Amino acid sequence: MEIKKNIVVMGAGYGGITAALRLARLFRQHPEYQIHLVDRNPYHTLKTQLHEAAVRKTAISIPIDRIIQRQKIIFHLGEVTRIDSLEHIVHMESKSLPFNYLIIALGSQVNFYNIPGLQENSFPLQTLRDAHLIFDYISQLCKHAASEPVEGRRRDMLRFVIGGGGLSGVEFAAELADHATQCVRNTHVNPQDVEIIIVESGSHIVPRMDESFATRIHKKLLEKGIKIIPKAKIIGRTPDTATLSSGEVLKTQTLIWTGGIRISELARESGLKIGQSGRIVVDEFLRADGLPFIYAIGDNALAINPITGQPVPTAAQFALQQGRLVAHNIYADIFGGMRIPYHPKVLGEVVSLGRHLAVGWLALPFLKKITFVGFLGSLLKTAVQEKHLFLLRKESGKWIAS
Ligand SMILES: Cc1cc2nc3c(=O)[nH]c(=O)nc-3n(C[C@H](O)[C@H](O)[C@H](O)COP(=O)(O)OP(=O)(O)OC[C@H]3O[C@@H](n4cnc5c(N)ncnc54)[C@H](O)[C@@H]3O)c2cc1C
Repeated sequence: MEIKKNIVVMGAGYGGITAALRLARLFRQHPEYQIHLVDRNPYHTLKTQLHEAAVRKTAISIPIDRIIQRQKIIFHLGEVTRIDSLEHIVHMESKSLPFNYLIIALGSQVNFYNIPGLQENSFPLQTLRDAHLIFDYISQLCKHAASEPVEGRRRDMLRFVIGGGGLSGVEFAAELADHATQCVRNTHVNPQDVEIIIVESGSHIVPRMDESFATRIHKKLLEKGIKIIPKAKIIGRTPDTATLSSGEVLKTQTLIWTGGIRISELARESGLKIGQSGRIVVDEFLRADGLPFIYAIGDNALAINPITGQPVPTAAQFALQQGRLVAHNIYADIFGGMRIPYHPKVLGEVVSLGRHLAVGWLALPFLKKITFVGFLGSLLKTAVQEKHLFLLRKESGKWIAS
């Protein structure tokens, strides 16, 4: 019996699912190679829409079985616990998987930075489960607040603090502001009772974006009644307070923490070379340093933009590009083609500010770009999200809807 050679993809997020589907297509005529995909969840999460699911419980996951049903990909449900880079084995809780090639695409996790009380008393927003917990909590809170007769207590119940004014914090705050209007209308709570506050350690929100966009986003958030406290860090948390580095103490029962991410310790513990922010050091082809059979992509990879010399940011658009690229490079490794070095393509940046508003820009041909603020923006944001689904469907050979 012929022994198959294994290409293992760890993580079925943006990078991993794209890589696995592209590998399946490239290796279709090579049955001696078997593509394996591993994830702790049986579904692919549209992580860039987590804030919507947290507030409106929108559907943002697709069963992996459905995506790969027409492809020769073996899916393993379970937790990866260790990578043995010398023996070429991925260890899971219940089994081990030998590999000839490995793609690491495990994404990132919440980072509480050891801030006292934060982990125990706040809601992170990194997974589908986090989003569902927030949704259930807010729904209950709204009902309880409506039946609370003491105004002071009601106001305390309806004060939401968002720790971290980056993309996810801002998108969540705006979505929550829209939802609060709904909640107020349905339960006859006084709109003045609801307070949403973003605490941001930098001098302005969405620090990764150009300052002119940050200013526009800031203005739109203020119009929605959201307060922004810049240059302040949350340094302590109890069940009903958040202490800021300025000394100010905010009374709040609800703290949503979007203030930091960290990369899984797995790579460090497995002896891979780790760089800035715990990301895996990779060469221009996205191979782990000194390990030509191991590739890292997405949030896990410390890919360097060759033009700027800076690390490529953690974002879905880059994870998708890298997933496609490493599939090609592995194929080239095996069949003697040309490996392609990674050059990030920035397709745009769009920040949604509730259901009908978005601010950002998208790249156009010939180095031109279109900027937008408003309803058109939200349509473009939807188009960007739909494009991912469209490409996923195309690569998967069109999955059959449930
Ligand atoms: C709220 C929020 C909003 C965002 N909005 C945007 C946006 O608008 N635009 C943008 O470009 N980016 C956005 N991002 C960032 C973007 O989601 C990430 O950069 C992107 O998901 C990274 O893709 P990835 O493939 O590296 O990892 P992920 O998409 O996170 O996938 C990682 C996968 O690995 C699995 N996994 C992890 N550890 C294990 C393990 N030990 N064993 C088994 N499986 C495991 C997970 O279940 C998951 O399926 C946002 C992030 C958040 C949290």
